[in-house]
Amino acid sequence: MVNATAVPVVIIGSGQAGLSVAYHLKRFGLSAGRDFVIFDRGTDAGGAWQFRWESLRLGAAHRVNDLPGLSELGLSFETADRSRPARDVVSEYYRRFEEHFELNVVRPVTVRSVFNRRADLVVRTSSEHYGDRETLAGLLVNATGTWGAPFVPHYPGAGLFTGRQLHTNGFRDAAEFAGQRVVVVGGGTSAIGFMLELEQVAANLTWTSRRPIDWVHTERLDLEGASAAVAMQDEAARNGRALPSIVSGTGVPVSRRIQAGIDRGTLVARPMFEALEETGVRWTDGTFSEADAIIWATGFRPEVRHLAPLKLRDKAGGLVVGAGSSWTDPRIFLAGYGPQASTIGARRAGRVIARQVMALL
Ligand code: FAD
Repeated sequence: MVNATAVPVVIIGSGQAGLSVAYHLKRFGLSAGRDFVIFDRGTDAGGAWQFRWESLRLGAAHRVNDLPGLSELGLSFETADRSRPARDVVSEYYRRFEEHFELNVVRPVTVRSVFNRRADLVVRTSSEHYGDRETLAGLLVNATGTWGAPFVPHYPGAGLFTGRQLHTNGFRDAAEFAGQRVVVVGGGTSAIGFMLELEQVAANLTWTSRRPIDWVHTERLDLEGASAAVAMQDEAARNGRALPSIVSGTGVPVSRRIQAGIDRGTLVARPMFEALEETGVRWTDGTFSEADAIIWATGFRPEVRHLAPLKLRDKAGGLVVGAGSSWTDPRIFLAGYGPQASTIGARRAGRVIARQVMALL
């Protein structure tokens, strides 16, 4: 039995992007529950951060920008505890943010599909708590991030390899690889983090990347100034391709920890292998490495499967977004999409999208 309710605005996702939009909608006078509702499939606050591995610390990745209004709670990621797992700190800050601004996120609720029924957008959801439902919405803000859409490039023999293959979003703990021969694939921050964690644990560790690593000698990534990276992400998002990592456009900042890893010979990537075989990987020079596990730190795609019935893609297969909304259907906003897929981009999107939502209501 499907229950139907109606609300002017549905927001899907309570990560940095969804919460930023919700914060600005509240500032414009809208009320959570009455004027807008936020659905999230996670069981807790924290967006995708709640699922990241235990050893990941704030500062080990890039800078994590504050949510708008977080300072009202006396909180900032700049001064947050870096000895605790990032997932715990971010979840805690987001939870306190949601409570303070009374955002009433409805979770766990998974949006299965969004489609048109006459003038309404129908948001079909399922939840072990709330059952299957339909919510009729005038406007939709999709803020679903990328975590649920891991990208693994195809290489010949992928199905033959009998060892373990996992993507970044399946990584939990380096200890799982104790004594194993591990190949880490990818040229971004996650791959580097895995290499540094595994070097004391794995019996044998190889790093490989499609492109040579572009090291830049600065401690911190200038995400705001990363216009080349943003342009690359924008182009990929528009064309429905995997988002290139931010560092593929900016270069990888060499922190002291990374420099030490380079000096030890750990952070030296070899060119990508040619194929997988039953027990390992075959390199382009014909040599072979036995492997027990391959970790694909190869990025993500925007998670927009549930929007497929809306047919937002253009003839070339791209989902074109201008000023936060779909060019095909201006009732659909995409927050944290493409070049906004960083905490600063998602934060900015919040204000821009909330303004446009208000203009359409
Ligand atoms: P998310 O945080 O992914 O939130 C999306 C939410 O939508 C989730 O809560 C999810 O449960 C929900 N959702 C998705 N699909 C559905 C559905 N169908 N139904 C219901 N709910 C749904 N960026 C930085 O700026 N600094 C960093 O240091 C940094 N480190 C990173 C480290 C890693 C390993 C990764 C993968 C990314 C990192 N990023 C970093 C990028 C980061 O993902 C973004 O910055 C930001 O957190 C994304 O926010 P978001 O709200 O768009 O998405």
